[in-house]
Amino acid sequence: MSHFLDRLTFFNKVSEPFSNGHGVMTSEDRSWEDGYRKRWQHDKIVRSTHGANCTGSCSWKIYVKGGIVTWETQQTDYPRTRPDLPNHEPRGCSRGASYSWYLYSGNRVKYPLIRARLLKLWREARATLTPVAAWKSIVENPEKRAAYTSKRGHGGFVRAGWDEATEIIATANAYTAKTYGPDRVFGFSPIPAMSMVSYAAGSRYLSLMGGVCMSFYDWYCDLPPASPQTWGEQTDVPESADWYNAGFIILWGSNVPQTRTPDAHFYTEARYKGMKSAVICPDYSEAAKFGDIWLSVKQGTDSALAMAMGHVILKEYHIDRQVPYFRDYVRQYSDMPMLVKLVKQGDNLVPDRFIRASDFDAGLGEANNPEWKTVAFDETTGKIVAPGGTIGFRWGESGKWNLEEKDAAGAPTKLRLSLAEIRDELADVAFPYFGNIEHEHFASTDHGSVLKRLVPVKRLPSTTSSSPITASTAAMAAIMSRHRWMTTRPTPRPGLRRSPVSRATRSSRSPANLPPTPRRPRAAR
Ligand code: SF4
Repeated sequence: MSHFLDRLTFFNKVSEPFSNGHGVMTSEDRSWEDGYRKRWQHDKIVRSTHGANCTGSCSWKIYVKGGIVTWETQQTDYPRTRPDLPNHEPRGCSRGASYSWYLYSGNRVKYPLIRARLLKLWREARATLTPVAAWKSIVENPEKRAAYTSKRGHGGFVRAGWDEATEIIATANAYTAKTYGPDRVFGFSPIPAMSMVSYAAGSRYLSLMGGVCMSFYDWYCDLPPASPQTWGEQTDVPESADWYNAGFIILWGSNVPQTRTPDAHFYTEARYKGMKSAVICPDYSEAAKFGDIWLSVKQGTDSALAMAMGHVILKEYHIDRQVPYFRDYVRQYSDMPMLVKLVKQGDNLVPDRFIRASDFDAGLGEANNPEWKTVAFDETTGKIVAPGGTIGFRWGESGKWNLEEKDAAGAPTKLRLSLAEIRDELADVAFPYFGNIEHEHFASTDHGSVLKRLVPVKRLPSTTSSSPITASTAAMAAIMSRHRWMTTRPTPRPGLRRSPVSRATRSSRSPANLPPTPRRPRAAR
């Protein structure tokens, strides 16, 4: 009723100025402002996070009204990290703060969408054929296949039903498994940190059918694929708070303030503590501000830069001189001492797989998982040992899945990093070389696609093969595959500036005139 009366007095407003006319008190109807007040009203507050492809798992207060998420704010009740570390709070990002807008956005995908051209072909084929025969009639017909694959990136999706969409997916998988084998179906299931149910459903499906289970690192490449490839586990790394304990951080492949916003404050706090940092990114990103050094690497050359770093480290700490800190570290914490099998490929020897305890008589005494235990030479005893800490020690026995310098029996070891001093021979080993591929944006060389390097090898007796295993260390294989190409200069492509040195040496670039390859590893001299 009062609103109604207010409206009747609309043309009889009383206004009372104050502060020399800078302010005015009125009796006009202000009920329209309730729209803003109601925007922030809520029936209850619940706790949640943003599970759709974000492993930040920040804790948020979700304000709900009538079953609708209206807004959200960050939780502030994280447990303390530890007395000498900064807390996690504040935690969250701008994407998370506006997440309720995603929930109710008109652009949110709630139904299966299929490219119209494919759906038309599918429905025509399904009218007369069984599912796999229908799919086969489309994908094995070049014109039909091109009709929809050539339109990728052009949109043209239409809504379909769940039954039809799942039938197409299942049929495509069945066709691929039947035609090429089940291991040609590979997939990725949402990570367990996001949703255990969807993760288990997808990975179980792939496992049961014999497909290949990828991680989301391999799938999106927005996190380091090399991490699970190297360590065998995904993100088995310290939490971001641990950055505070670092004296030096290289930031590479991540724009932390933008892509890991909730953790970015740890970086800032570590900088205030005195940590030094180098930031590697092509653009002057938000992350570049953290760096004492900003290394603006050319796009697409990260791998070359990483290999150049590896080359310098190996050359200066392992080949030209042997630095105990480096050698002790790689001996204990890396696979550099592990023996690698060399096999014949055509006329060449090439690196194959790691040699395992199961390759030897009685599995080197390892009854438990010998096929999962890699081996190395122990400098002290001269014997081949299965050092603790490899994956075979993880299950079935206890107390040996660690990186102590001990063999399986618990005896101290000093693993040999090179076979140069105990070699049976030096053998030519072939390594692939990709730096000779011409590219409009990068310099290439005129080296061959296969480079041969002299590698010290041992012939080892095997119980699984009539001929001895030819072996070298992972360290030597790595060094020899890198050493030569890093010491030769690239031949610039037309249009790219050449340095005076490379110009002078260009005339001698034929393979016959290439500088001699180091014929013997340093340690053997
Ligand atoms: S990082 Fe952002 S999107 Fe991810 S959980 Fe935290 S607030 Fe949500």
